This record gives sequence, C-alpha cells and structure tokens, in this order.
Amino acid sequence: MLKKILIANRGEIALRVHRACQEMGIRTVAVHSTADASAMHVRLADESVCIGPPLARDSYLNVAAILSAAAITGADAIHPGYGFLSENARFAEMVEAHGLTFIGPTADHIHMMGDKIAAKDAMRKLNVPLVPGSPGALESFEEAREIADRIKYPVLIKAAAGGGGRGMKVAHSAEELEEAWQVARTEAKAAFGNDAVYMEKYLDRPRHIELQVLADTHGNVVHFGERDCSLQRRHQKLVEEAGSPVLTAAERDALGAQVTAGLRQLGYRNAGTLEFLYQDGQFAFIEMNTRLQVEHPVTEMVCGVDLVREQIRIAAGEKLGYAQEDVQFSGHAIECRVTAEDPESFAPSPGRVNTYHAPGGLGVRVDSALYSGYAVPPHYDSLVAKLIVHAPTRPQAIARMQRALDEMVVDGIKTTLPLHRRIMADAEFQSGDYTIHWLERFVARG
Ligand code: ADP
Repeated sequence: MLKKILIANRGEIALRVHRACQEMGIRTVAVHSTADASAMHVRLADESVCIGPPLARDSYLNVAAILSAAAITGADAIHPGYGFLSENARFAEMVEAHGLTFIGPTADHIHMMGDKIAAKDAMRKLNVPLVPGSPGALESFEEAREIADRIKYPVLIKAAAGGGGRGMKVAHSAEELEEAWQVARTEAKAAFGNDAVYMEKYLDRPRHIELQVLADTHGNVVHFGERDCSLQRRHQKLVEEAGSPVLTAAERDALGAQVTAGLRQLGYRNAGTLEFLYQDGQFAFIEMNTRLQVEHPVTEMVCGVDLVREQIRIAAGEKLGYAQEDVQFSGHAIECRVTAEDPESFAPSPGRVNTYHAPGGLGVRVDSALYSGYAVPPHYDSLVAKLIVHAPTRPQAIARMQRALDEMVVDGIKTTLPLHRRIMADAEFQSGDYTIHWLERFVARG
C-alpha cells in the first residue's frame, strides 16, 4: 500500500483526499501557495510545503515545484483532486517518470478525453450514443454552415479543448452562425491555446445526467449510478442530485452496462465520469472527465462507497472492492455548492469569514475548508463549501437540505446560501421537472 500521498490541490477537495488517507493510515503532504499558508488543508496535513506565490500558474500549476515537494518529503504518490493539474496528461506522465504513482487514469486516456473530438470518436467506436454534430473538428466556416443546414438550427459551436463552459456559443440561425464561429474560436484560443472547434445540435430541453465509474488494473469496471446535474448557470453546476428524479432503474442499468463494457474494452483505469445529455428518453454523450468530480459526494451517500479510498486502492494495484451487484442504491442525496459570490449578481466576494457554523444532524455532510477567522483568498475558485444531505426519499432530502441551509452560517462574506434556499423552496424544483435551462431563468426572474 502507498505510505505517503502528496495532495496537489487546495480547499475542500484537499481535505477530502486527506480524510481518506488518514482513515487508511497513509501520511499526507499538503502543498500550498503563500496565500494559503494558514489554509485548513495545510493545518490538517501531516506535512506541508510552500510551492510558490498566490497565482495558480506559479503554485498549484507549478509542476516542477510540486514534483520537488514530493521528492523532498519522500511521497510515493500524488492525488491531483479536481481542476488545476488533474486533467493534465503531461503532468500525469511526469509524475510517473519520477517514479511516483499518479492517482488517476493513464496519461494516454487523460489526453484522449481532454480532446472532446477524440473523446467523441472513441465513444462512437464503443457504440456509446452521441449528440448529432460534426464528425470532427470544423475545418472552415463553409463546413460549419453545411453541417448546421443538415442537422438544423439551433447548433452549438464547442471548443475541442473546452472546460468550464468556455468556448461554447449557440447559433439559432444561419445569421448567427458566423459570429458564434468567430467568438467560440477566439475564446478557445485565449482560454486553451487551441482554437479547434466542433459542432453539436443544441438540444432545447435536455437534462445533464452523468455516470460515475471506477476501473481497476485487473479488468474490473463498475458503475456507481448517475448524478443529475441539470441545475446550471453559464454551463456550471450549482446543485446535483443522486439519483436523477427522472431516470428509471432499468434505464440506469442499461446505460451502465453499455458504458462499463466500453471502458473495459478501452482498458480504462481509476475514476471517471461520462457526461450525457438526456432528452426524450435518449442519452447523448458530451464528454468524459478523467478525475474525481466536485459532485462525487452525492454518489458516495447513495452507494455507501468512499470513492477516494477506492481511487487510492486502485492506484496501489489492488482489486476494486466492489462487483457490480455489490453496488446498491439507497435513498436520495442532494448537494448544494456554496460559493463566495453575491447570490444575485454572482460577483466574487472573497474576504474574512467572521463566523462559520456548519450544520449537522442525521444525514448531513459538509465538505468545506472554512473556519471562523479564515480569509477566503481572491485568487482561486469561489467554491467554499459543499453541503450534502442524504435521506430515504427525495422530498425528505429536500426538507433536510432546507433545514441544513437554515442552520448554516457564513458571516463576513457574501455567499450563494440565499439562492440555494430559494431553489429548495421552489415548487418546480421540488417537482423534479427541470432541464439545464431552468436555473438560468429562475435566477433571471429574481
Ligand atoms: P465543459 O467541459 O465546458 O463543461 P460540456 O461539454 O461538459 O462543457 O458542457 C457543459 C454544459 O453545457 C452541459 O452540461 C450542458 O448544460 C451544456 N451543453 C453542452 N452541450 C450541449 C448541447 N449539445 N446542447 C445543449 N446544451 C449543451
């Protein structure tokens, strides 16, 4: 088994990985920027190393500093968390070249799925259903126009290297296509250094439903059911549920069987999530994330699995602790992402937290690196807490979430807690009848 793991991340996810390590008797090394010297992940870890100044590119993305920190502390593995270097194939390769274990998939698979065009190609070969669109990268505006005419408007231009909803533009008509094409390419170039774009049919009322999988190095691939992440603003998730309010067990089993067979054929390893749009009873693959996801706790709650523990065990060469029939789904889980932002304008609101009080009680889990007196730095992602509840039924989970949101106090900075309270109290949300466009309209209604 691994003895010491360096956690190449910060915030709640660094804590999440640290907690799994502690319970497994594995020592942890935190890395941090100068802005994070008093952060919770640094306080809890067995050892810590400062890897650079506040800007992420100088610290949490600083590969040389992170590898040096691993060498100095004698770590034998690196867990990348999500974001930062987690989907950087070159990083995974360098970690292994330095004789360390990368807790994640192979560099080849990270590379393949990081290019959404290559990912769709791979899925096409594995008979996974796709959103209709261009067969590959769009070579010219003329090609874009031809394909849009064929698949019919509205269409979406997407960056091959996309992430975080950037480089994505909708065109509702031929008149809008030229601008969408230009803007998507410019944004993609600026954000990812790669202006390759492709086209998809823009679905008008899909849900975002994703499937969690784990694969070991002995040919075992198991899925842990779906998460419904349809509640999004600007293509970014705010609330997630497991299971989906609209999926039947038969639909889940069928999708799970198809996906696990495909990944077995691919020789995939460690954790992964396949994201689909779901409309009119049909699934259409959009992308695969080759890492642990922010919303993984809702899956953990309904399956009773510790996904990080399994990731570590797989990386150590052990067999998956689950066969498919061992995975049982119990009750319903919901996660609210609490960010340090104005709940109406979404303007960032970093700064000092005077009072922090976490909710508790039956079925309540809080994954957060906050503490009273902590100053949320302005340099990083605004997620400050994930509030997760688990209950026997969806209505009970909503009631529990409302109760927990009312107990939670984050004083001194603005947070999205009031928005989450409004969502949970909304009759349409409670009915479970919503699409990926619902939240945007809900927020606009005010
Ligand atoms: P990113 O990697 O930038 O997050 P995704 O491909 O995962 O991009 O898409 C993010 C979100 O954008 C999806 O969850 C969905 O809400 C929306 N989206 C993506 N593709 C389509 C599509 N073809 N039609 C409608 N909405 C889409």
